[in-house]
Amino acid sequence: KDDSGGQSFPGRVRVAVRLRPRNAEEQIADADFADCVELLPELKRLKLRKNNWDCETYQFDEVLTETASQKRVYEVVAKPVVESVLEGYNGTVMAYGQTGTGKTFTLGRIGEEDCADRGIMVRAMEDILADISPEHDTVTVSYLQLYMESVQDLLAPERDNIPIVEDPKTGDVSLPGATLVELKDQQNFVQLLQTGENNRIASNTKMNTESSRSHALLLVHVKRSAKSKQEKDLVIPQENGNGVQLSKGHRAPTIRKSKLLIVDLAGSERVDKSGSEGHQLEEAKAINLSLTALGKCINALAESSPHVPTRDSKLTRLLRDSFGGTARTSLIITIGPSPRHRAETASTILFGQRAM
Ligand code: ADP
Ligand code: MG
Repeated sequence: KDDSGGQSFPGRVRVAVRLRPRNAEEQIADADFADCVELLPELKRLKLRKNNWDCETYQFDEVLTETASQKRVYEVVAKPVVESVLEGYNGTVMAYGQTGTGKTFTLGRIGEEDCADRGIMVRAMEDILADISPEHDTVTVSYLQLYMESVQDLLAPERDNIPIVEDPKTGDVSLPGATLVELKDQQNFVQLLQTGENNRIASNTKMNTESSRSHALLLVHVKRSAKSKQEKDLVIPQENGNGVQLSKGHRAPTIRKSKLLIVDLAGSERVDKSGSEGHQLEEAKAINLSLTALGKCINALAESSPHVPTRDSKLTRLLRDSFGGTARTSLIITIGPSPRHRAETASTILFGQRAM
């Protein structure tokens, strides 16, 4: 099945761009100014205004306008990755963009008041829980924050500096010491997201920083046994065109493990290095380190390079087994319309283009 729009999806990063609507302030203060971008969703193109006469055109896998629903965003950005995770492959969904452009809105919205608002995390879990068999399969979740090159547990804030361990044989990445919660149902998951969010606010207040200065990572482990819904109907195609239904006794039970990573990246805006000092400067350096390392990796994937340089930062080390190879990766870059942020918007677009 090729749902990748003609280009092979595994190993390559699929890139969507999402424009958020003008906020109240921008509607008033910038009323006389045109948006700095124009979207052509049918052509999957975006035009970035250079000046009053001239613009640059960019091509993406998907272009989501300010009226795109959360449901549509989930379907084009995350659903193919979720489906592939349910089939046993690892996958990643990441949001990249300047602070205030809608990364958390896109990924982390719980949608308590209006379920149309539900973001990618909640919708992904709904699809996962609907597909697995509760008797045979398990879904476990960790929720982490990566701040200043230190991995913190958002489900148990006292756990800090969690090591990232890579199995030398399989290449699997694990985080010994991070809380792993086995999910029973969706309500369970929503509570966990809320706990994580509250802990994120509390820990950032304690560290005197903002949530935009750290990466938030949701890790979902899916473990399926051969007896689960998907495998018990397994039919092996035969040369005569008929299929052979395997009875349970024919094969040893197999266990398949896969992993979905949903990453709400730190704000990509340049922090003025000359104006900031001490703590702020250290934060800016850590973010720059990890986003630069991420850029190099997606660039390597785009060029089908045999070597993806994942060792340069904790972020890319965490992504190592959910990145490239048979894994599916989807990147959503978020931008705002305001002409005031044209330079940041341009830099976000260029980051997305490096993955194509
Ligand atoms: P980020 O996580 O990138 O810093 P947020 O997700 O917190 O940005 O979004 C900033 C503000 O813009 C929030 O008030 C959010 O509700 C609003 N917003 C973002 N994207 C959209 C959208 N597509 N539609 C409506 N409001 C949005
Ligand atoms: Mg955010």
